[in-house]
Amino acid sequence: MTEKTHEFQAEVAKLLHIVTHSLYSEKEIFLRELVSNASDACDRLRYAALTEPALTKDDPDFKVTVSLDKDAGTLTIEDNGIGMTEQEMIENLGTIARSGTSNFMANLTGDAAKDLSVIGQFGVGFYSSFMVADKVEVTSQKAGTDLGHKWISEGQGSFTIDEVTREGRGTRIVLFLKEDASEYLEASRVQSVIKTYADHIALPVILKTGDEEGDGETVNAASALWTRPKSEITDEQYKEFYHHVGQAFDDPWITLHSRVEGVIEYSLLLFVPGQPPFDLFNAERKSNLKLYVKRVFITDECEELIPPYLRFLRGVVDSEDLPLNVSREMLQNNPVLRKIRTGLVKKVLGELEKRAKNDLEGYRKFWNGFGAVLKEGIYEDMEQGDRLLKMSLFTSTKEDEGTFLSDYLERMKEDQEAIYYITGEDLDALKQSPQLEGFKAKDIEVLLLSDPIDSFWLSRHSAFEGKEFKSVTRGSSELDKMKDKEDADQKDGDKEESANLSTLIAAFKQALDGKIKDVRSSSRLTDSPVCLVADEGDMDIHLEKVLKAHKQLSGGDSQRILELNPDHDLIRKLAEKADSDAMSEKLSDAALLLLDQAKIVEGDPISDPVSFSKRMANFMSSGL
Ligand code: ADP
Repeated sequence: MTEKTHEFQAEVAKLLHIVTHSLYSEKEIFLRELVSNASDACDRLRYAALTEPALTKDDPDFKVTVSLDKDAGTLTIEDNGIGMTEQEMIENLGTIARSGTSNFMANLTGDAAKDLSVIGQFGVGFYSSFMVADKVEVTSQKAGTDLGHKWISEGQGSFTIDEVTREGRGTRIVLFLKEDASEYLEASRVQSVIKTYADHIALPVILKTGDEEGDGETVNAASALWTRPKSEITDEQYKEFYHHVGQAFDDPWITLHSRVEGVIEYSLLLFVPGQPPFDLFNAERKSNLKLYVKRVFITDECEELIPPYLRFLRGVVDSEDLPLNVSREMLQNNPVLRKIRTGLVKKVLGELEKRAKNDLEGYRKFWNGFGAVLKEGIYEDMEQGDRLLKMSLFTSTKEDEGTFLSDYLERMKEDQEAIYYITGEDLDALKQSPQLEGFKAKDIEVLLLSDPIDSFWLSRHSAFEGKEFKSVTRGSSELDKMKDKEDADQKDGDKEESANLSTLIAAFKQALDGKIKDVRSSSRLTDSPVCLVADEGDMDIHLEKVLKAHKQLSGGDSQRILELNPDHDLIRKLAEKADSDAMSEKLSDAALLLLDQAKIVEGDPISDPVSFSKRMANFMSSGL
């Protein structure tokens, strides 16, 4: 007796519960998932056999067979692919190994309708069998071994595995169909499902209905989709292929299919998804393209094929120039791959530019989902950085939906010298930033940059088409220059006021000594009394925070400059009283309170909350 019982990983048990207990409108997709897995298993063995031909010697023709048995009420899917060892069965059919699992599970709510839409987005692969079957038996034998294993489960929390003798390699999956899934015993129904979902698969999918004599009939076209002429491929077929190759469930936004001829030759069939995949922002930033050489699958883990900032692409690249027995190691620093990569990047960016021009609405939607990823290229890709900057949409104080920089340039004021921006984590908070007030009042547009990557590319690109990028939270701004001009026109009457302000600034400097770098009058503010800015040569406030969060910078925070709004009622009143001795303690309290207030507005912690609240209470009671 070798049978062992195993529990499903908790996430799988939860998933299975939803899969088996919810009415899922598209049950037929189980067949797509299983045929897709079978075809992947054949692809992997075909690749392994390039270096170890003995693996396929006895049975060289890959195929997937679907058989129906009305009497037994079973549908069986069998492949002569790579197979699984006992351990692989435990891992692959008992856990969810894909990265991002916990995020995925966190999105499940327990509400069937909502959960199904989440699952629909992510796919359940093999586990979809339990939508139509109340028992599933998987018998598998790894190529190159002579021991098989049978995995059995009713999808209820556990599965058993037993040793079996099997005649040859590969995997057989027997589905004991539920009563309400008997349609999948009908030859015509199954045939049409296979045709829909597996036509693009490059190996034959054979249907055995149990009624025919002989070996059954090949139902699909069985030639790799990308090798067929475009004119013979329907949108529906492209879409199905995208679902298969990209493990995706949405409609692709862009389909690029072409053959490149010349110094190097390759075919590409690439998709830009319609919806951002759930693992888009995973730390690994893994590429998702499959590399084939002369129609033979090589790997889906080829980081050299596409830069990480295009990792949202799905699809296939099939090279004519790489040797068939190319090893994973040979793929690194491979000159052919480098050329293909350059070609792919140009092709994809070219297409995106075209869309930006001809389908701005579609492009905006794409940008909302993928822009933050594409912008990584502005930072990382020396060659295409400027081009990517040009293609980027940025939210601004004038364009909530996002603006291209070229449009920003056109809207610039006559005497405006720089492209202004503010960076931060949260767009809504950014919009409220006091540092923007003066710019708004002067109708000067400011870019609101709230993606973490923004701070990084800004450190690499100091200008766009000759116009410098300038943070509104750093240095003295152009607003000062404009202000200077206005000041020169002002009458002598203001002199007394500015003398008071100077006294106030001196008092504040004294009170805040050691806490800040400087105190000065601001032209940035219209509504708020104070704000913090970085000195001209210092690092932008938000950039410093981002770099520290990424551990790329250590040490304490840089000291900032506190700017006062001379036109604010509070500052004016404080200034009027600034030279009276009786005020000195109050002034110093006011200075500390206003500094804390400026920090709160920045989203920064205040250093001494207890003192802050005492001062606040004192001030409030003295005002009553
Ligand atoms: P996915 O295909 O998304 O990885 P599945 O749940 O469909 O998820 O399958 C999990 C894993 O089980 C696959 O990645 C593969 O390693 C293995 N597997 C599934 N079906 C087969 C098969 N027919 N032959 C060999 N391995 C298989």
